Amino acid sequence: MKRIYMDYAATTPVRKGVLDEMLPFFSENFGNQSSLHSFGQEAKYAVEAAREKVASAIGATPDEIVFTSGGTESDNFAVKGVAYAREDKGRHIITSAIEHHAILEPCRFLEKKGFEITCIPVDSKGIVDPADVLKAVKKETIFISVMHGNNEIGTIQPIKEIGAIARERGIIFHSDAVQTLGRMPLNVDTMNLDLMSVSGHKVYGPKGVGFIYIRKGTRLTPFMHGGEQERGRRASTHNVPGIVGLGKAAEFAMIDLDKETIRITALRDKMIRGILDNIEDCRLNGHPTKRLSNNIHISIDYVEGESLLLYLDMEGIACSTGSACSSASLEPSHVLSAIGISADTAYGALRFTLGRQTTEDDVNFVIETLPVIVRKLREMSPVYKNKK
Ligand SMILES: *Cc1c(COP(=O)(O)O)cnc(C)c1O
Repeated sequence: MKRIYMDYAATTPVRKGVLDEMLPFFSENFGNQSSLHSFGQEAKYAVEAAREKVASAIGATPDEIVFTSGGTESDNFAVKGVAYAREDKGRHIITSAIEHHAILEPCRFLEKKGFEITCIPVDSKGIVDPADVLKAVKKETIFISVMHGNNEIGTIQPIKEIGAIARERGIIFHSDAVQTLGRMPLNVDTMNLDLMSVSGHKVYGPKGVGFIYIRKGTRLTPFMHGGEQERGRRASTHNVPGIVGLGKAAEFAMIDLDKETIRITALRDKMIRGILDNIEDCRLNGHPTKRLSNNIHISIDYVEGESLLLYLDMEGIACSTGSACSSASLEPSHVLSAIGISADTAYGALRFTLGRQTTEDDVNFVIETLPVIVRKLREMSPVYKNKK
């Protein structure tokens, strides 16, 4: 059976060219980049080359990049790093209701330590209104974090506008761009960003590596204390193969960004139309156009997402209910709650995310297979029979 992977928002495979670039750094070129001998210098050279690649992918300079263990660490570093560095100026933080847990949980942690957190709501399409951010700003506000592309429903936020509000008032502005690198052009200057998080494994790089962009002059209190790596901003011996892979992945992502985005967007739109046309009582969540090029998030009434997922898996199709982060819990996703989706409807939500290996045949197969599964499940559902 052919297996079709449509869960690229959860993780992506490492590209062949990325893996090839990484391999020597596990064995022959195993040096510690802090060592002064040639082994160490080789590693250092590779890390700095990767730093230049990721910096150029986002319009930053290499000294504004700090390598981390991934998106979660970068997000935690942004939230806690700014909070601790600026708490003498104020203890108010603004974020949005649809952030990744890697932002919401550190915010909750800080709330227990006496910080005040304002969560900006989103509209029914999942978009933050910059006017709401402006209204929430107080003189104690030190930090704003709003994600760029949402990992569940795929909405793209007005980062530039929110950034302008923050900049005018001297508030540090961060965005989680884990889902957008390689899916749309990123530029930290035009986006008015001070901080930005990226993860390797969402962009065809390895897991366990990422980076945070820190605009020159932005103070963050480190939470990894130890050696002088990353100029004292993040101690611990560099994950050299991972960093090399991340650099290569960022370079690749830029090479065919436009072409691949056009291809994936067409497949996404075909799949959305195919699903909505062939299944009754079903709708697209999120925004129709301000959405990630690869995201299809739908609610199907009278069926459970988990059952759909398992039946699809038996046909070789891998997707996700709502979000991989919340699949293990029974609570409806905080993102779906934020866009006003009732618990009932949230249980019938499916997320398909497309990627480099997705073909038109794959999309056609899902469009044919999903309606059959939905019909089968609905036939077994007493709720569905009562409604009809
Ligand atoms: C995956 C993801 C993260 C976490 O990144 P890791 O590298 O897995 O820690 C953070 N934010 C968003 C939006 C994500 O999709």
